[in-house]
Amino acid sequence: MNEPNRKPGDPRWSTAGFSTRAIHVGSEPDPATGAVVTPIYQTSTYAQDGVGGLRQGLGVGYEYSRSGNPTRTALEECLAALEAPDGSARGFAFASGLAAEDAVLRSLLRPGDHMVIPDDAYGGTYRLVARVAQPWGVGHTPASLVDIDAVRAAIRPGQTRLVWVETPTNPLLSVADIAGLAEVAHAAGALLVVDNTFATPYLQQPLSLGADIVVHSTTKYAGGHSDVVGGAAVVSHSAFAPWMDGIADLGESAVERVGFNQNSMGAVSGPFDSWLVQRGLKTLAVRMERHCDNAEKIVEMLRQHPKVSRVLYPSLDDHPGHKAAVEQMRRFGGMVSFQVAGGKEAALEVCRRTQVFTLAESLGGVESLIEHPGQMTHASVAGSALEVPDDLVRISAGLEDASDLVADLEQALG
Ligand SMILES: *Cc1c(COP(=O)(O)O)cnc(C)c1O
Repeated sequence: MNEPNRKPGDPRWSTAGFSTRAIHVGSEPDPATGAVVTPIYQTSTYAQDGVGGLRQGLGVGYEYSRSGNPTRTALEECLAALEAPDGSARGFAFASGLAAEDAVLRSLLRPGDHMVIPDDAYGGTYRLVARVAQPWGVGHTPASLVDIDAVRAAIRPGQTRLVWVETPTNPLLSVADIAGLAEVAHAAGALLVVDNTFATPYLQQPLSLGADIVVHSTTKYAGGHSDVVGGAAVVSHSAFAPWMDGIADLGESAVERVGFNQNSMGAVSGPFDSWLVQRGLKTLAVRMERHCDNAEKIVEMLRQHPKVSRVLYPSLDDHPGHKAAVEQMRRFGGMVSFQVAGGKEAALEVCRRTQVFTLAESLGGVESLIEHPGQMTHASVAGSALEVPDDLVRISAGLEDASDLVADLEQALG
């Protein structure tokens, strides 16, 4: 496989703070022009010095943009530096979050294998596991990830290869104890994959807690402006899948397998999409602080509102996994869910009436969004173990003024 210009963790930035890494890692001045921002290398192919001879030197060594592209490399180096400042992991950028998940699943599993998934997994993840991986021959068991014993019971010795974690979960925002689950997975010889889309590496770094692989929908907070669909996998160099045969001479290394499949399956992040996600990452820390500030003010109002029967947010001490959240998260994130007294019709009415909050799926952008998971993002899990309450409303607190967001929800609740 072509390995263009890739340094395993730049020692200059390994002790730098989060934002310094977000702004500098991968973003060297362009070797050709000095451009401070990595250009969008909108090219499919690269001139070679001779037959079989890739160009040598700074910023070169590329042959074809599915295998490698400098704009994508810049993003991949940045993602790795945010999830693993010590250079202990490698980043891979994909065309969507689900493309990243698919590449991870097909890199590490074979027909006959089994995985444990959250019982309130993101609907698209559930669909991939239940309707794509399962017909291929990979079994799964949904378990409540806030209950370590339930996860232990769901593991099938010698067959379970992955424990898949989302935390906080979508849409119930439960928090799983990553370090505890890593221990349980590793004791069974399985790897722990964490979907870090909701928390982002700014709020929590699963690899440092023992996870082997982090996946992201960079469509959400990483991109942050609702203008790109993208995904990522950040894979620890110490993650091995000893149950895999030496297919294509790749051995057991998860980094090599995911890298091989990124190129072989081809669902890569294009240059412009990579550029947008990296631009988003540079402001991730300041955006996350504001998302959290706004979410906290909304929670404060909802908790006292007579028409709200329950607020789901990890800062609340009656919340499942509150203790784990305090231990492993910097703050509690920009997502808030709540149940509306009066049931499904009342919940749908709130979604219809907001004016600042836009009724839409997705999350993590500058604009606040509201949705009804039962009929929107989680409609595909109706009737399954993953079904969500029908009086539930989920919001993504954007970066508008908190007073406007609070007032909008108050008028929508009536
Ligand atoms: C959106 C999302 C995904 C899927 O990502 P896409 O970019 O839409 O393919 C996976 N996990 C979570 C938690 C998400 O919110």
